[in-house]
Amino acid sequence: MIIPLSANGPAMNDYSSPQTCTWCDGCGNHGIWTAIKRALVELKLAPWQVLLCFDVGCHGNMSDKLAGYRFHGLHGRVIPLAAGAAIANPSVPVIAIGGDGASFSEGIGHLVHSIRSNYNMTFVLHNNANYGLTTGQASALTWQGQKMNTAPFGMPEATLNSMDLVFALNPTFVARGWSGNIKQMTAILAAAIQHKGFAYVDMLQACPTYNKFATHEWLLEHCYDANAEGHDSSDFAVARALAVDTSQRVATGILYQAQGVPHFSERLESRKGRETTPVDEVKQVDVAAFTERFV
Ligand code: SF4
Repeated sequence: MIIPLSANGPAMNDYSSPQTCTWCDGCGNHGIWTAIKRALVELKLAPWQVLLCFDVGCHGNMSDKLAGYRFHGLHGRVIPLAAGAAIANPSVPVIAIGGDGASFSEGIGHLVHSIRSNYNMTFVLHNNANYGLTTGQASALTWQGQKMNTAPFGMPEATLNSMDLVFALNPTFVARGWSGNIKQMTAILAAAIQHKGFAYVDMLQACPTYNKFATHEWLLEHCYDANAEGHDSSDFAVARALAVDTSQRVATGILYQAQGVPHFSERLESRKGRETTPVDEVKQVDVAAFTERFV
C-alpha cells in the first residue's frame, strides 16, 4: 500500500544523509542509490514511510547514505528480516537490497523461498558479479573462466543462470536495469514498489575495481530496453527466454509482471477477514503476566 505524503511530497534532499560516500569512483552503486531515492520521491514516499533493508556488501554501505528507516542485516539474511517486516506491517512498503554474492550463495535459500512465497516486498539485487567489499572474490554469478582474486587462473565453476532460477520459481514480477541508466532504473523501481507481491529487480552494476568483464562500457553496449522494443511483460514464456538468453544482447526493463496474484499474507487463512495488522494486534498483548513466570 502506498501512503501519500502530501500534495507536493518529499524532495531528494529529504533522503540526504550527512555520511560521505566511500564507494570507488565510477561504481554503479552511485547510480542505483540515486534511482532508489528518485523512485521514492516520485511515489511521494517520505523517508519515514518506507523501510529499506540492506545486506552486507559494498551496496550495504548505502544504509547510512540515506535518511529514513533502514536496517542493516547479516550477510545473506536481508530477505528474512525484510519479509518479516512486510508481513508484520503491510501498510509500510519494504525494500530489501542485496548483492549477488550473498543472495546467490549464503542467502540463496531465502531468495528461492521468498519468490515462491510471493512475499509483498521489493528485492533489489546489486549484481556486480563478484564480492566487491571483500576485494573481488568470485561469486556464483561471476562469468566462468574470469580471473578473480580467489580464482587467479579463471573461475572453474559454471556461472549460475540467475534468471533461469528466478523464472523456475513462478515469480510475479521480474525486471532488469543497469547502473548507467538512472531514468530506466527509477521507472523499474517505482513499478516494483507498487507491485503486489514479490518484485525481483536485477540491477546490473558496474564495479570498475574488480569486475573487468561486465564493465560500464560493456553494459552500455549490450543492454537494451525491451519494453521500448514492444516486449509484452505479461507473456511468461517470452519474458523467460528474453531474461535468460544474454548471449548477444541483454534485455532490460520490466520483463514480466503477473497482476492480481495474492501475496503471502493474503493466502494465510489466519489473516483472512482481519482489518488489523500483526503490529496492531501485538500492541494488545500484555506480556507482563507471561514474563512474571520467569522472575
Ligand atoms: Fe563499487 Fe566495486 Fe568499489 Fe565496491 S569494490 S565500491 S562495488 S567499484
